[in-house]
Amino acid sequence: MAAEKDRIIQKVGSAGVVGAGGAGFPTHVKLSAQAKVVIANGAECEPLLRSDQQIMALYPEELVRGLKAAMVATGAKEGVLALKAKYEEAVSALSKLVEKEKDLRILKLESVYPAGDEAVLTYEATGRVMPEGGLPLDVGAVVCNVNTLINVARALDDQPVTHRYVTVTGAVARPSVFLAPLGISFIRLIEQAGGPKFPDYAVISGGPMTGEVVCPMESRVSKTSGGIIVLPEDHYLIKRKKMPLSTQLRRSKAACCQCTQCTSVCPRNLLGHHVEPHKTMRSLNLGLDAAEAPITSAMLCCNCGLCSFYACPMELSPAQVNQAIRKEFAQAGFKNPHLRRDVVPDREYENRKISQARLVRRLGLAEYDRPAPFDPVKIEPKRVVISLKQHIGVAAVPMVREGEIVKMGQAIAQSPNGKLGARIHASISGIVRKIGEKGITIEREGA
Ligand code: SF4
Ligand code: SF4
Repeated sequence: MAAEKDRIIQKVGSAGVVGAGGAGFPTHVKLSAQAKVVIANGAECEPLLRSDQQIMALYPEELVRGLKAAMVATGAKEGVLALKAKYEEAVSALSKLVEKEKDLRILKLESVYPAGDEAVLTYEATGRVMPEGGLPLDVGAVVCNVNTLINVARALDDQPVTHRYVTVTGAVARPSVFLAPLGISFIRLIEQAGGPKFPDYAVISGGPMTGEVVCPMESRVSKTSGGIIVLPEDHYLIKRKKMPLSTQLRRSKAACCQCTQCTSVCPRNLLGHHVEPHKTMRSLNLGLDAAEAPITSAMLCCNCGLCSFYACPMELSPAQVNQAIRKEFAQAGFKNPHLRRDVVPDREYENRKISQARLVRRLGLAEYDRPAPFDPVKIEPKRVVISLKQHIGVAAVPMVREGEIVKMGQAIAQSPNGKLGARIHASISGIVRKIGEKGITIEREGA
């Protein structure tokens, strides 16, 4: 078994697999741990995103194979496929495979937000709450996104990560899911989806709750790009997300009425972690870097955005404030002091779950809550710019030179020896035109 574990980890590392649903933690490192259970995260709880629910229905065998490989690598005796009950096609496809497997089960989740948060999902799947400042592994669980596990299965067949399933939706003519080559520009995918419906539009990279407003001309698909959401420039969500931090802080100090609604919906607070955004907002006059409990507790926030975009009647953004606090502390090298392990969920945990349908309405996204079918079109850009930092850890170091001809799937960058990182591969065949700050530019020959 040890040899098989090593083989899986080596193949996953060589293929450059990273967490597809979050910040891009290198999967070969995650699978090096020992765990009791591996949870396949198919919750896809961000409104409007449609990729994971479709690839689970399209590639159930690969998903189960990836999950089983992750179980072998981690020594886990149990695998849980966690997805929303409403993803009926995926549930049906996976049920047929799972009924033959004694060590696998399907967990049907409610349509609530944030069902895919790793702390929430771990609790739903195991009944155990991970400690403050901890990981699912602290309660014996490894959580992997379903796209990641499909990439694990492909890695076992020596297929590196060169493409990524991306939902392109919102105010576009044909909302779709595409299999996009890494490094393709957002604007090319928006055009592939029929183009924006408004001349003045803005683009969110990721989900509407946790994603950021980005420039579609400069942004490019990476291993963690789950969604590209086009909205009118004057949409409520865009205006909220674009508000500068200085304005947020000024408004927070002046307008927070201490109603506590932000804290009452906070999923981490409901799990028993000491996150109390209303107290953080009350303590803002102390300064973002004050090492007082109401400020430092921001380090336990998972940035789900419920407090800001769903709860606050004054349209304040505790999530953004928490993010700024975490940044200040990270820059100062300050470690999280909140490490309680005896965490018990609030008795209101079940009652205060937020339905995704209500969230969609609250965000003003009901008219964009439409199907985005998988379009199997082969997208072949003339040029890609592949980032050297698509993962947690250090940037990858180029293995190719300008002017070199590369083939699709060829390794073009790798993490420096012994450092946390991931290998990167060419997503198209062509000539390496440039190696620079933005990454490695490859152009198709004759382009
Ligand atoms: S919901 Fe808004 S107004 Fe109420 S306590 Fe939280 S930040 Fe303040
Ligand atoms: S973003 Fe807000 S609601 Fe979400 S975990 Fe952080 S404090 Fe809680």
